[in-house]
Amino acid sequence: MSVDVTLLGTGGGAGWPHPFCTCASCEAAAAEGEIRAHTSALVDGVLLVDCGQDVPRSAVRLGVRLDGVRYLLVTHDHHDHANGAALLWRRWADCTGPLQVIGPRSALDSLAQWLPPDDPGVDFIPVVAGDVVQLGSYTVRVLAAEHDSEGAVIYDIADAAHRLLYATDTGPGFSTPLRAHYDLLLLENSWGECPAGEQTRHHDLASFASTLARLRRENAIDDRSRVIAVHLGHGNPAPSVLRARLTDMGAELVPDGSVIRLGGALAGRPATRRPTRPQRILVLGGARSGKSVTAERLLAADPRVTYVATAAHAPDDDEWRDRIAAHQARRPAGWTTLEIAAQGVDGLAELVAGREPADAPVLIDCLTLWLAHVMDVVGVWTAADDVAAKAADLELATAVDALVQAWRTTCGDVVAVSNEVGSGVVPDYPSGRRFRDELGGLNARLAAISDDVLFVEAGISRSLLPDRVTPHQPPESS
Ligand SMILES: [Zn+2]
Ligand SMILES: [Zn+2]
Ligand SMILES: [Zn+2]
Repeated sequence: MSVDVTLLGTGGGAGWPHPFCTCASCEAAAAEGEIRAHTSALVDGVLLVDCGQDVPRSAVRLGVRLDGVRYLLVTHDHHDHANGAALLWRRWADCTGPLQVIGPRSALDSLAQWLPPDDPGVDFIPVVAGDVVQLGSYTVRVLAAEHDSEGAVIYDIADAAHRLLYATDTGPGFSTPLRAHYDLLLLENSWGECPAGEQTRHHDLASFASTLARLRRENAIDDRSRVIAVHLGHGNPAPSVLRARLTDMGAELVPDGSVIRLGGALAGRPATRRPTRPQRILVLGGARSGKSVTAERLLAADPRVTYVATAAHAPDDDEWRDRIAAHQARRPAGWTTLEIAAQGVDGLAELVAGREPADAPVLIDCLTLWLAHVMDVVGVWTAADDVAAKAADLELATAVDALVQAWRTTCGDVVAVSNEVGSGVVPDYPSGRRFRDELGGLNARLAAISDDVLFVEAGISRSLLPDRVTPHQPPESS
């Protein structure tokens, strides 16, 4: 047996593109032909979750019939989820059977106004978070949403063999039942990159990633689960860019009308960021290019990442501490930070070389500071005579060789950030020229043995390797 989930819509409150907007996101969505109606999911043709104002017409356009719907689950009383006119239209048809409408009291009250009080065909069943209702063969668990609407809930829907979580509208502060494991997660990403996202009890791309990381940590989802972004709006980048961002997180962007079959022949998921063999990814860019954020995004949906801070800094440097704190605040809670400067000149190479396939991925930020630190420690700048200078050079070369060798042979996933320092004028002081030469050489050696090399300018990354699929760039054809 299988369960078919038809997405009648995947858009947010105003849909996407927004009908009254000409922003870059809306123009791109229109140009790419990605028109998204209010988010709604139809399970096996009988159980409809949310029915906003767009939804009945969207179903007709998609060739999906609603006459078989026997259960309507409503998450909350917002126009893009609860639409009383749909009940009235249904009453006007004469071939529909009984209907149970389940939702928070506030939503049911406004829906009920569209029907005469004595309508025998429709039962309203108010629920609150924590309730469990049996609807035919489906067990529906009602979970609390974090959203600005009275009694707002999300739904955990299971039959004997499959389970899905319909999670919109909600901020990240929802929880799932102990030991729940989902085959399908429909998770909202209302705000994308729009900075208003955090205050509105919705998700944006950053909190979408951290929620996925949390759910993976809790084993509510794993690599067999499909994760689809819904409730999308124009805070998001162009659909082709968003699709690549979601792929990095192990999530999907699918068009309205998609049918997700759980447990049947169509089951399966597209390739995601984590392959079975180790990945070495080098992220290059100038100062403030967005290279750290790009590298973090590659691993953002991973619940466990070892973040390697390479800076050696004075403990009383306040400005530096603030910068580190800002970096830390951006990273998911399950990540651990390792200050590699304390581990000696060989510490980084030993860490990379010792990774096993099951280990947490390593994010090194950044090689520039690591190299500067090593050059300091081995005495490149302070050698008193030629003999000492030769010894320092040899020690530096040994440390760099060890890192390159570790990068070549590691069995774990590693992402390293480094600066591209060759674009400016040639430094007019010897130490600047020397450092530039050393770093350029290290970057080139690592790039030659990396699975992908990304170059970041103005926050936009592209692969320098011609045959790679670039994570954050639209495909050529669009
Ligand atoms: Zn909504
Ligand atoms: Zn717009
Ligand atoms: Zn809402």
